[in-house]
Amino acid sequence: MRKTKILVTLGPSLEDKLDKAINLIDGVRFNMSHATTDYCKRFLNILEKNNIAKVMDLKGIKIRIKEVKLKNKILKVGDKVVIGEDIKFNYNIGTIEEGHFILINDGKIKLRVVKNKGDKIIAVVEVGGEVKEGMGVNLPDTKIELPIIDETDLKNIKFAVNNDFEYIALSFVRNKEDVKELKDIINEYNGDCEVISKIETKEGLKNIKEIARESDGVMVARGDLGVEIPIENIPIEQKNILRTANKYGILSITATQILDSMVNNPYPTRAEITDIANAIYDGTDCLMLSNETTIGKYPIEAIKVLNKVAEVADKHYEEFGDKVCLGVKSIDEGLVYAVYELYKKLNVKLVITPTYSGRTAKLISKLRIGSKIIAPTPNIKTLKRLRLVWGVESCLMKEFNDVESIINTSKSIAKKEIGKGIYLITLGHPIGQKKTNTIKVESI
Ligand code: PEP
Repeated sequence: MRKTKILVTLGPSLEDKLDKAINLIDGVRFNMSHATTDYCKRFLNILEKNNIAKVMDLKGIKIRIKEVKLKNKILKVGDKVVIGEDIKFNYNIGTIEEGHFILINDGKIKLRVVKNKGDKIIAVVEVGGEVKEGMGVNLPDTKIELPIIDETDLKNIKFAVNNDFEYIALSFVRNKEDVKELKDIINEYNGDCEVISKIETKEGLKNIKEIARESDGVMVARGDLGVEIPIENIPIEQKNILRTANKYGILSITATQILDSMVNNPYPTRAEITDIANAIYDGTDCLMLSNETTIGKYPIEAIKVLNKVAEVADKHYEEFGDKVCLGVKSIDEGLVYAVYELYKKLNVKLVITPTYSGRTAKLISKLRIGSKIIAPTPNIKTLKRLRLVWGVESCLMKEFNDVESIINTSKSIAKKEIGKGIYLITLGHPIGQKKTNTIKVESI
């Protein structure tokens, strides 16, 4: 059974084949840099019916070329360009300083700022190429002092809240204040969507600890990250982001160019397969496909490859995977270490972790035990959120009223799942306080 979870971005390639993918995926991401709320609406029914986790990915401060006024749009080395005149961006980048770089189209075009006159910025071309409206812009050296959420994002957040999205991802998160801002807006709209911070800038990397503390999940957004930092640093930063997420007990997602060659080919490269397994051994909960399922020619094939590779890699986690280390500052974190010790000593085949919020299930998942983890919950949203958490299978259970009924329900789950052997149940005692503080060791 596959334990690493699969999140796919919905786009033209997959939209007519979604029914074929539905049993092979755990979550769907709508990338609001391209998608609209009307687009999202078309798929809500099928996602709801199949308990698929829905992730709305807000564009954040994505700087793009708004207008190119140059006659010759092919920039040559040594050309001088006036930003704000020859080329206009969708944001005012007034804080940029002399010597800072402006990277265009995934870093393929490189300009260096020679003068900042406020509304006009003079830059010289260091690596040329053709500039077009809509191209992405990265400012790797510049602290961007713009609000992280704008009017379009606000409308999208409202839609996500009203349509019960389980997660909202925020692009270009810089610090904990950015996360708080999104959380406050979700609260204002009376929503309970969890927040995933996309780590894709130097500032995000620098503040990873405070961001992880404030977030419900983080994403290693390797696309923009590979433009903002030297590309050779990505493997190390990926390990650091995933370790930090796991230490704080929050969701972790690894994204971008997972199976890039499958955008055009029906089979992957050996390097891609190895990268997938290594991301799993770095401790990611979930792997995300982007271009493969939005503009790729082989979306279903890519999803199938990801399933197969993850399934094999998962079987060897205990041998090759990173040993996850939680902070142990709370009762429930201490308790999951006790689950871990029992698992090792008693050949535990199954852990059943009834949950309202999903927290204990997430923490147990972080220890990457080899046995099954089943999380019965009366809360459908928790069930769908847990679909993205490594190794956790969630199922619906009626409201927990007493310990006896939890134990009986767990017994029937254990009979069905393992037939014979030792299993653990985690409980909040007395019932109703919604805090896990007890482990029951059972055998059948
Ligand atoms: C990324 O940059 O890797 C990423 C996931 O963000 P987006 O797809 O929104 O560019």
